[in-house]
Amino acid sequence: MSSTKLEHVIIVGGGLGGLATALSFHYLFPRHNITAPRITIYERESTESGRINEGYTIAIRGDHVGGGVQALKTISQDLYNDIRNMAAPERDKNIAIQFSFGINCDINPMLKLNTSAEEDSFRIARFKLRNRLVEELKHFGESKIKLEWNSHVIKADYNKEKNKVDVELKDGRTNECDLLIVADGAHSSVRRYMYPEEKLNFQKCISLSCVTTIDDGESLPSPIRTSPLVGITGKGIGIFMATIDEKSFFWGVIYPSNEERPPPYKGSVMTKDEQDEFVNEVLTRTNGCLSNEFRSFVRKCDRERILILNSHDKFPHKNPSKKHIIFIGDALHPMNPTSGNGANMAIMDAVEFIQLLIKHHEKQDNYLITRSIDEFDRDHVQRSTDAIKISHRNMASAVATGLKFQLNKIIMRIVAFAINNPFLFKNNNNPPPIIQWSFNGNLNDTFGVYNGISTNGTIQYVSPSYRGDGMAVCFANKSYALIPYSLKLIGTSFTISTWIQLLSNVPLNSSEFGIFTHCESMTNNKCLYMTVRSGKLLFSFYINNFTGNSSLTNNIWYHVAYVYDRVALTQSVYLNGRLDGIFSSAGILQSNASQMWIGASPYTYMYPNPFAYMDEMIFVSRVKNTSEILDEATLVAYYKFDNSFLDSGPNNITNSTGTNVQFNATGRLLSVNNNWWSPMLGFDNSSHLMTQTWSGAIFYNVALTSFIVPLNIWTHVVATFSTTNGLRLFINGTMANSTSSTHSHAGSGTWNIISVGTCTPAAWCTNAETRIIPKQFRGKIDEMRIYSRELTDVEIQALANI
Ligand SMILES: Cc1cc2nc3c(=O)[nH]c(=O)nc-3n(C[C@H](O)[C@H](O)[C@H](O)COP(=O)(O)OP(=O)(O)OC[C@H]3O[C@@H](n4cnc5c(N)ncnc54)[C@H](O)[C@@H]3O)c2cc1C
Repeated sequence: MSSTKLEHVIIVGGGLGGLATALSFHYLFPRHNITAPRITIYERESTESGRINEGYTIAIRGDHVGGGVQALKTISQDLYNDIRNMAAPERDKNIAIQFSFGINCDINPMLKLNTSAEEDSFRIARFKLRNRLVEELKHFGESKIKLEWNSHVIKADYNKEKNKVDVELKDGRTNECDLLIVADGAHSSVRRYMYPEEKLNFQKCISLSCVTTIDDGESLPSPIRTSPLVGITGKGIGIFMATIDEKSFFWGVIYPSNEERPPPYKGSVMTKDEQDEFVNEVLTRTNGCLSNEFRSFVRKCDRERILILNSHDKFPHKNPSKKHIIFIGDALHPMNPTSGNGANMAIMDAVEFIQLLIKHHEKQDNYLITRSIDEFDRDHVQRSTDAIKISHRNMASAVATGLKFQLNKIIMRIVAFAINNPFLFKNNNNPPPIIQWSFNGNLNDTFGVYNGISTNGTIQYVSPSYRGDGMAVCFANKSYALIPYSLKLIGTSFTISTWIQLLSNVPLNSSEFGIFTHCESMTNNKCLYMTVRSGKLLFSFYINNFTGNSSLTNNIWYHVAYVYDRVALTQSVYLNGRLDGIFSSAGILQSNASQMWIGASPYTYMYPNPFAYMDEMIFVSRVKNTSEILDEATLVAYYKFDNSFLDSGPNNITNSTGTNVQFNATGRLLSVNNNWWSPMLGFDNSSHLMTQTWSGAIFYNVALTSFIVPLNIWTHVVATFSTTNGLRLFINGTMANSTSSTHSHAGSGTWNIISVGTCTPAAWCTNAETRIIPKQFRGKIDEMRIYSRELTDVEIQALANI
């Protein structure tokens, strides 16, 4: 337990960032067995103000730039699902946004940007999102999170003697806390008090916006029936329109101005004359630029929901970490809505800061608050700086005229072409759902995108692979596969699994075998590498290093899997399908590397690589669950017999001839070839179902003696073997018989050839000692699975009940 107290936290501002912070504390801390602090949220406004003042919709983005989707999912998947269900109607999920240019651009979209397949971005009315977050607080009760409305904070500062932050409200109340989170928005009172020199920059644009509700029988403007629209008239006026629900939509018109507008900014506090003036102003400014249809909607706008925004922003200041105060969201880095990212940043700030507190808490850091704030400033603030720069570009192009307008049009066409053509620009679908390097004589990705280049010495291929056929890659000395493409791992979970065999030419305990590296620079959380170090699986983000428990040996094929869960913030390693180690305070991977390495890598000190084989490396941009990984490692083959003899298991073992699966002669159900032939499952001469193994000297067998398998009905049969439990035979999920002996099986550890329905060649199977008789199985076989491990009773019951 850290000696820094974290018992009471005050949050200034019950907006998106403040609410997300409170929820993150109470959802994420308990997941790490840490008691969340008591939280007080002070919110200046009253409960009712939302619907009027926050009528517009905001885009919650699932791409790696936005990140609001991932952050909400991190807080609570159920909460996210609910919010997602409240989203504005999506008419065409495949189109993220549309652009149009020139006069009447509001009715004339030209460019449509596709939605990336994995992106789950959506738009939602701000007040709906905020109300849902407020609702969620209620689960925890006021003793844990207290939201105080009509509470305007005016001052806050650190009190060194008490090691507390003192907070003062406009109505004279005071309070104190161990940590103050300032989330009071772009015009932050606390920032003004603490940093009077930190001024907002006026970006010389003003936006006039409102919400229009359509009458019965009327339709929403045609372009936004598909997706939101950004229009650039070329006459110094830009427009944005997006639906809120089936009957209403939000619109905003942006124009350049050297002067800031004075208040009033909100329709709800304007007089009727001021509201009418606003409408007339929009009509005048858009005259000759926008369509009559749009202008008729302007006339009908809901006057109470008028919003005038001077476009302000400010690059983030350094947080006063030693004072135990952190600014987040718009209070730290206000940005213009044209970047469409302020809400995403505020929610991400909340989640990422809480994750840092957890991390430092688990390290028993005596300065957990200061360190977490410092790390937040160092690693997380850059993204908001980038978003502000993007908003400057967006604003400039929205109001561009003349040559600049023409140039922007061309650039936008190129950008749209790039985004909509994944074959030309691979990053569009980045990270992809799957990458697969099968190493069958080359370093190509099965899906043709992330092909590798043999580098630093010739990569060789060996045969057979771990499956007994095909090829595996052999890395020696300094050789590696360079994958010269960026793979965007920021903000995503992933699993990388592969088969490896370490060769015996080097001692394991003093070597490092590189498996996969994605490294931007050798700094904390920017360098991902997976290796076998001193014989154990190592999973590192450069700082968050941990190894699995088991020691590997040379010359054996192992299945290894490395899993990063971006939501639970865990790193795990699996060996042969079993969890071998988990690190529960993983950092947030930040590597933006433009290439990857398989085998040795120039970034990590396992360079050069000793000799190792590798086969079938698979990347997926999600967490594989434990049963998937176990199947990948141990489900050797799975024949569904759905009109084919193909293996549907993870290995896709090819049926070499097909001739042995006709079931039309006399013979056995299943046999195994390994120099000698050993029938493993069939019937004895009393028609008893029997399973047997060969120890190298004698056959061991177990028969179903209590009854004969009935004719014409389906029976589920499982035979298992282990040196612990010997042979066991299960009928319809229940064990029917077993051997007590714990002999070994001579076919273990080598490749075996199986035949189903008969034993080929029959003469070889006619061994005097086998009790399974060499006759053809006559009947139906379905859903055959072969595992390289003994299944548990529970798993067998589950298979029998499918
Ligand atoms: C028209 C428009 C469209 C937008 N579209 C998008 C979009 O598409 N995507 C996107 O990501 N972002 C968008 N944004 C930006 C986004 O809404 C903000 O960036 C986001 O709400 C910031 O969250 P926050 O918690 O930092 O601040 P806010 O949500 O502004 O919350 C601050 C809260 O603090 C309260 N408060 C203020 N002062 C005090 C005080 N002294 N004491 C107590 N309480 C106080 C306020 O009442 C408010 O509730 C848009 C903004 C606008 C105006």
